[in-house]
Amino acid sequence: MTTKLTTNDTLSSFIDKYDNFLFDCDGVLWHGDQAIPGVIEVMNKLRAKNKRICFVTNNSTTSRVNFHKKFDRIGIEANLDEIFSSAVATASYLKHIVKLPADKKVYVIGMNGITEELGKEGIQSFGGEADNGVWPNDPIPNDPSVAAVVVGLDTQVNYRKYAKAFTYLRNNPGCLFIATNGDTTFPIHGSLFPGAGAIQAPLVTALNRQPDAVLGKPAQNMMEAIFAQYDFDKSRTVMVGDRLDTDIDFGLQAGLDTLCVLTGVTSEDQLLSTSNTTNPTYYMDSFADFSKVL
Ligand code: PLP
Ligand code: CA
Repeated sequence: MTTKLTTNDTLSSFIDKYDNFLFDCDGVLWHGDQAIPGVIEVMNKLRAKNKRICFVTNNSTTSRVNFHKKFDRIGIEANLDEIFSSAVATASYLKHIVKLPADKKVYVIGMNGITEELGKEGIQSFGGEADNGVWPNDPIPNDPSVAAVVVGLDTQVNYRKYAKAFTYLRNNPGCLFIATNGDTTFPIHGSLFPGAGAIQAPLVTALNRQPDAVLGKPAQNMMEAIFAQYDFDKSRTVMVGDRLDTDIDFGLQAGLDTLCVLTGVTSEDQLLSTSNTTNPTYYMDSFADFSKVL
């Protein structure tokens, strides 16, 4: 049963009920580079009430440092260590869980956010934005030192990059196929474009193999990183998001209460449809509506 937060009473008791707020970014705080109207003021008021805040984004295209600059530009207060992204989660997974040996390399289909975070963990990578993937049809030599292929959203993706990723994954025994996140779409310019999941799909088809790991929400790696860093009481923590299959499932899998806002990809009809099985604890039109009680 999902409760819609509308009255001042329900809005106030929601604020009182939680000390810790985990925020999805795009669709909750901003659209692209534009703050959602009224959200900056509400975020400032939450800080003034000493609420603990973390940001959890599946966007792998930008590094943590550049996200921090984006928060500054937009005017939402954020500390670097409050920002968790699927690129950070991917680098951390390869370093601490896989324990990729120092002499091994990662081939990246994706943008600078991924290669920069891999570099911060001391992981050698190639590809990414530096790889223009220009055809001609010359051979692709296998490189046995490639122990993982990481695939995220890549706006310059092309056949040559897929052929390289395919070559390493097919020929190197144990080479890992890692997806930064599985979002099928992401919102841009008021519309939806194919997401990282769609970029991974050709490799899934060609290799007849699913990724070995998908690191973004709803996978729990970022949740574990947050709870390892902050001593949050789960019963006083809420996950706020706009997407059911990533944000809300991310919170539900961790046993947290969840709030779905309707400023992003989910409509009220989708949320309330009988075919929807991912039910947030609460939903509301916009997070900015808390301005009525803060
Ligand atoms: N992936 C990409 C490439 C994006 O640009 C975005 C949003 O801008 C997302 C995923 C979704 O990000 P979030 O988890 O902050 O909604
Ligand atoms: Ca979102």
